[in-house]
Amino acid sequence: MLKAAKIFCGLSVFVAALFQASLAEAKLKVVATTADVGALVREVAADDVTLDVIAKGTQDPHSIEPKPSFMVKLSKADLLISNGLSLEVGWLPSLVQGARNPKVRADGGGFLDLGETAEPLEIPTGQITRAMGDVHPEGNPHFTLDPIRNGKLANAIAEKLGSLDSPNKAKYAERAKAFQTRMETMTKTWQERIAKSGVKKLITYHPSLNYFLKRFNLEAAAFLEPKPGIPPTAQHILSVIETAKREKISLVLVDNFFDSKIADRVVKEVSGARVQSVGISVGSAPGLEKLEDVAEQLVRAIEGKK
Ligand SMILES: [Zn+2]
Repeated sequence: MLKAAKIFCGLSVFVAALFQASLAEAKLKVVATTADVGALVREVAADDVTLDVIAKGTQDPHSIEPKPSFMVKLSKADLLISNGLSLEVGWLPSLVQGARNPKVRADGGGFLDLGETAEPLEIPTGQITRAMGDVHPEGNPHFTLDPIRNGKLANAIAEKLGSLDSPNKAKYAERAKAFQTRMETMTKTWQERIAKSGVKKLITYHPSLNYFLKRFNLEAAAFLEPKPGIPPTAQHILSVIETAKREKISLVLVDNFFDSKIADRVVKEVSGARVQSVGISVGSAPGLEKLEDVAEQLVRAIEGKK
């Protein structure tokens, strides 16, 4: 009797495991290109999809090594969500090609490019030449630092997920709306805090913070890079120091995957100025688990709080 009960018990565990497995099987398989895109998907989808994220928050998303393991994930995916605006142009096309999964190609129905709904800033006019540096022809791709845009993007993600997974459609839409409302409320508070800090102009390394700056009425007086994607030169740094003195700059923000030594050189020459290394994406530093954590950290850096 005991034995029979044991067998039955074992069997029901087995059946439960099978059921779990088939549930997992039924979940939509989503691949996000960057940590921030992944964080947006999490806000909208929670645990209703399986999610793989290619670029870690600690990596520079412009240059990711296209590993075969990513190709395998893409070969099984139902949906690929990319940041777009050429951010991943150096590595995503070869991964998609290698994955041989027609679903996740641009015309395959399982592809969403967020750049198309992001209302890009800084779309270059006229001809783009190599001399301009690493310019993104469709506009600045670092839009996930704007909480208001993120709210809109969440809705675009909800719509796409809902079109591929109708049983969960209402849940996706509801979560996206809730996230958007939260971002709008938090943005008001962040705006007040930044206004109170008195900081109006600052210096950054790369144009990666521009959407954040614009949203919060801040201005980049200079960049440490002479041109986007071109490492700082001695001559350029001299001109940055001049600008910093003239504009009475008090803060240099450096994305934490760049070397902050150059910024140290600048602030040594400018009285009252300080350097702060900041994470500019989810997962780029401890405690930056959600998009709002990244924004909060930037606001604190501007306020002069660690
Ligand atoms: Zn960039």
